[in-house]
Amino acid sequence: MDAIPDPQVEIRRSARRRRTGSAYREGDRIVVLVPQRLSRAAEAELVETLVARIVARERRRGDDAELFERAVRLARRHLGAHLPAAHVPLPSSVRWVDTMQSRWGSCTPADGTIRLSERLQTMPDYVVDYVLTHELAHLVVAEHSERFWQLLTTVPHLERARGFLDGYAAAGRHGKGWHGKGEPDGSADADGTAATDGSAEARGADGAAGTAGGDRTPG
Ligand SMILES: [Zn+2]
Repeated sequence: MDAIPDPQVEIRRSARRRRTGSAYREGDRIVVLVPQRLSRAAEAELVETLVARIVARERRRGDDAELFERAVRLARRHLGAHLPAAHVPLPSSVRWVDTMQSRWGSCTPADGTIRLSERLQTMPDYVVDYVLTHELAHLVVAEHSERFWQLLTTVPHLERARGFLDGYAAAGRHGKGWHGKGEPDGSADADGTAATDGSAEARGADGAAGTAGGDRTPG
């Protein structure tokens, strides 16, 4: 579980509830309904259990097969807006990984594999779509060049997604941005080779793309 950060949790105490609690996702929060008269310790334990259940469910829901289909859809929609259909790259595999503590995603163009950090699973869909499409675009262009960012111009809420990730990292919860140092498995990928540290990454992207900018590597 330690790959998934503490989600935002809102606790609502209900006088009508006696013993049981329940929890559900509401936007980027998990709302937990708990009996009003529980002790602090009992409440904390109940909240932890219920939140873990939601997180586990979301983890299962985001399984790799689903992620692969999502990647194919995004590649066709966004890369396909800029490339002839025959040139739209499809990944060989797309996997959730819990080993990426300091990056959001990675792409290995040589074998077409894409990996996304499981930390993204609790983030809004538009953020996941952005990271996924970003890595797909690396199947076409390795570095964050102008051409790279042009491939992403049809991605909805791109700036918002980047802001979300920046804010998330800046809040100190995790990570150095998604191409930061510290990938434990040490695999090489487009971003790792293009920019092994955050500053190079940010510079390259800033210079390349005007408003699209680059991956920030905060924190
Ligand atoms: Zn990148």
